[in-house]
Amino acid sequence: MKDEVGTKVYHHVETSYPNSSHMPSQQSLFETNPPEWEAEDAAHKLVATVVLTSGPSGEFDYLIPDEMLDERRPETFVEPGRRVKAPLGRGDRSVTGYCVEVGMKPIPSTRKLKTITAVIDKTSLISSDMLRLTRWMAEHYFCPWGQVLETVVPAGVRGKAGTRDVTLLSVPTRVAASLTKLKLPPKQQQALAALAASHEPMTLAQLGEQAGCTSAPINALRKQGYIETSVERLETDQLTAIAESSVERQPPKELNSDQQEALAKIQLALNNAQHETVLIHGVTGSGKTEVYIQAIEQVVSFGRQAIVLVPEISLTPQTVGRFRERFAHLAVLHSCLSDVERHRHWRRIAAGEVQVVIGARSAVFAPTQHLGLVVIDEEHENSFKQDTAPRYHARDVALRRTQEAGVPLVLASATPSLESWVCTQSETEPSQRFTLASMPKRISDLPMPDVKTIDLRQETDRGAISRPLRLAMEVALRDGGQVILLLNRRGFSMHVQCPACGCVMNCEHCDVAMTFHRADSTLLCHWCDARRPAPQVCPDCSSPSIRYGGLGTQKLEAEVQARFPKAKVLRMDADTMRRPGSHQQALDAFRKGEANVLLGTQMIAKGLDFPNVTLVGVVSADAALHFPDFRAAERTFQLVAQVAGRTGRGELGGRVLVQTLSPDHPAIIAACRHDFESFAREERAERRELGYPPFGVMVRLVVRGPQQLAARQTAEHLAAELK
Ligand code: ADP
Ligand code: ZN
Ligand code: ZN
Repeated sequence: MKDEVGTKVYHHVETSYPNSSHMPSQQSLFETNPPEWEAEDAAHKLVATVVLTSGPSGEFDYLIPDEMLDERRPETFVEPGRRVKAPLGRGDRSVTGYCVEVGMKPIPSTRKLKTITAVIDKTSLISSDMLRLTRWMAEHYFCPWGQVLETVVPAGVRGKAGTRDVTLLSVPTRVAASLTKLKLPPKQQQALAALAASHEPMTLAQLGEQAGCTSAPINALRKQGYIETSVERLETDQLTAIAESSVERQPPKELNSDQQEALAKIQLALNNAQHETVLIHGVTGSGKTEVYIQAIEQVVSFGRQAIVLVPEISLTPQTVGRFRERFAHLAVLHSCLSDVERHRHWRRIAAGEVQVVIGARSAVFAPTQHLGLVVIDEEHENSFKQDTAPRYHARDVALRRTQEAGVPLVLASATPSLESWVCTQSETEPSQRFTLASMPKRISDLPMPDVKTIDLRQETDRGAISRPLRLAMEVALRDGGQVILLLNRRGFSMHVQCPACGCVMNCEHCDVAMTFHRADSTLLCHWCDARRPAPQVCPDCSSPSIRYGGLGTQKLEAEVQARFPKAKVLRMDADTMRRPGSHQQALDAFRKGEANVLLGTQMIAKGLDFPNVTLVGVVSADAALHFPDFRAAERTFQLVAQVAGRTGRGELGGRVLVQTLSPDHPAIIAACRHDFESFAREERAERRELGYPPFGVMVRLVVRGPQQLAARQTAEHLAAELK
């Protein structure tokens, strides 16, 4: 039976996981002896294993009909990575799924398998490596495999956006050889001669024009077998070829000693052709980007490809421009691409035409054939985590992908995530440990800016801008500098804090801030669901001036405008930045000096140089600090550190003022001192004590049902069981 199958056509997907279907474990194509337990009457059959794109999860076995085994028609093959149609359930409803495996399986005679009805894709959409990776994702993130595949293969690729089927005509060789001997009507003779004279196959329309005839004689020739046809997938328009812009190439920079050391660590792994994760921890402007660009240059010189993941917000023309100066063939995958553009990039990458893929989260799935390196810049950013199913973290997926490919992974950040940091420390077992490369100095030896806190508990003003911040703004603007005011998370702090003593209403069980719910005036813990009435006076100092609700960017803008009527104020937040490109326009305008004050959410804190900014004010560090999230302190540290990295780049120097009701909080103190390591030490101890990641794994269980009571009881039952 085995010999009937062309093994060169069907390759078996190696999977290191047990098959989760109801079938006994899968049988390799190359295994000869059936296991002992196998029933006598089990026959080996060629089976396609299919996972559905929606509906029931799990893997389903189907038989492959003979017509899908015809070697002369490879476009109809059933192979891993193609989608197929198959019947499901009692009614044989037609469903779509991905074929994930093809192989011989022992099928007992009592088991009736259904048969694949159609093959959708003419080529495989996803490689066997990526099938393995997506299978791991499905298990790791508790998500149906088919749903993962639908996420990984872009819609534009599935739909073959921007291409269409074209029927091409040509003359078979045997006909061409005896052309003169044929007795045909003149019109047909003419058409056949025209086609035979052409070096390329033609479409019906092209041939009609060439031979000056209608389609009737051509179709007559087809029917008699004098013309054969083939179907090809062609681009619908040739115009939109992706422009490889003609930026002038720049040579590599001469690295300083810290940079050389960091690069050497990456090169060691590259030269040994093995996986290694290198975490580059370097302050903003220390030259991290230059280091990994040079590592990529080496990878490209080996004829391999690199993937660079950056937060969506950093996919600016500036960042991309830096890559264009160094690499000729780039694919930039940002979220505004049309399906057609995405499909085209995907094919260029798969064909090996691209050296470097740069993109946001989902670029981790780029179909590179010879992956040499993956880089994640700003690796601590939470935008690398997808918050809809499959809820993957691009950092974890990249780690897995590079481990399997045996290539290095480079993580870069000024404020690494605690997860990555802990992996560089001796407490992590050597096989899982990351290599740390530290770059503590700015390239030009510019000093780090001066960061100070303003204790809002001392303030009597009711506004959002304290007296010291207002005075500093006056000085900065008077001297011709620009000012950035930052309000975190659109400013809507949901936590409750006493303005007199700074005490925060925390959950007793979880130690995270409770959120205020106006409707019933209660405090709610979003972690454990604890609930209590909102206090009228501060439980600590009995002050009655306890505040509920927060401040938005609009309110802040009004206040700034009232205080500084002559200043030009630019506001950037999710509301004003809806249009694509508006983000870039606003930043360009600010850089050109068209506004004096830029105020907005954390989207203004990242990855940008403004030499003329001499003052940055963080309006409230507390909204971030008391966000109901165990990562709140980490996010606050990152925010203040990132903001500090944005100032003091020009000759004017710069300072940062952080307004807070909690000036003694360790995260804020450490951020003011630019001291990541002591922050990490302290935060690590706390996380360990409470069992938060990376010392524990969190799982969210959602119970849904049409009846609230039943759902609630199930959830409670589940909770009791778990406890
Ligand atoms: P980071 O990624 O750590 O923020 P960059 O790589 O962007 O740092 O470097 C900051 C600036 O210094 C950039 O303008 C970059 O071109 C420049 N730079 C980086 N490395 C060098 C070097 N070795 N010599 C001179 N300039 C450098
Ligand atoms: Zn108080
Ligand atoms: Zn709680």
